[in-house]
Amino acid sequence: MDLPVSFEFFPPKTPEGADKLGVVRQQLYALKPEFCSVTYGAGGSTQEGTFATVGAILAEGVQAASHFSCIGATKASVRAELATLKAMGVKRLVALRGDLPSGYGAGGEFHHASDLVAFIRAETGDDFHIEVAAYPEVHPQAKSPESDLQAFATKVKAGANSAITQYFYNSDAYFRFVDDVYKLGVDVPIVPGIMPITSSSQLLRFSDACGAEIPRWIRLRLQGYGDDIASIKAFGLEVVTDLCDQLVHAGVPALHFYTMNQSAATTAIVQQLD
Ligand code: FAD
Repeated sequence: MDLPVSFEFFPPKTPEGADKLGVVRQQLYALKPEFCSVTYGAGGSTQEGTFATVGAILAEGVQAASHFSCIGATKASVRAELATLKAMGVKRLVALRGDLPSGYGAGGEFHHASDLVAFIRAETGDDFHIEVAAYPEVHPQAKSPESDLQAFATKVKAGANSAITQYFYNSDAYFRFVDDVYKLGVDVPIVPGIMPITSSSQLLRFSDACGAEIPRWIRLRLQGYGDDIASIKAFGLEVVTDLCDQLVHAGVPALHFYTMNQSAATTAIVQQLD
């Protein structure tokens, strides 16, 4: 496919997980990603694993983006981590607020992702390409849809180069979001985040909390398959490939896949798009 693709991983927790992810990455490199990104646990909880995985990707000759969340962080800690990433040769960041697990006081010197973006620009100039998160179906903690659009525009204007969306299965939400923020003066690429469907309960559980809606017809079909994993995967492949097809035909700048550290579903979707 001519359209750029990128792949997101989370840092593995065990040596076996790291070995498995190494194999998954090699499989996905066959699709020639523009870059691969690695998530970062809020409060720095996965910092070591995130940076190690980013380092492994760079050593494999592929561009790597480190996610970087600021909730609970201080300017001094962010400055030190930026210096580490720069020394590693990282040129791309996904700058986020993040969510602290309940029970943690917010604390820290950053309140919104826009604070982090502005800080990174002030500290490091144009050393990093900065991505930010976008929510076509509205961030779950937003005061209102309008304030969420405004907050998005503010963080882009603080110095972001591009954005990646939360996943969605309703393409109209994405198109409407892009139109609305364009009217607020945002003209950076907004790349759809794509979540392949490979299981039912995990997706249904996860989506409510993160600001992604599973349309009723998809939810009911998934529930109807019960434990029939083969049918869930076949249905998921069809639904998500159709979604990507619509997006590609509408001229999106790229596709970013939430791989969940698996290669099969993402590979099948990209191959079908070809
Ligand atoms: P923000 O842009 O700061 O927005 C958070 C909320 O604050 C929104 O409701 C917004 O409307 C509101 N807001 C923002 N600015 C203002 C303002 N000035 N005044 C009032 N309200 C405001 N989480 C992780 O922990 N690690 C990851 O690696 C990670 N990767 C992600 C990658 C992508 C592509 C996406 C879409 C999400 C990712 N997340 C990750 C989840 C993200 O951390 C959460 O969704 C978090 O709740 C919000 O982060 P944000 O950067 O979007 O925050």
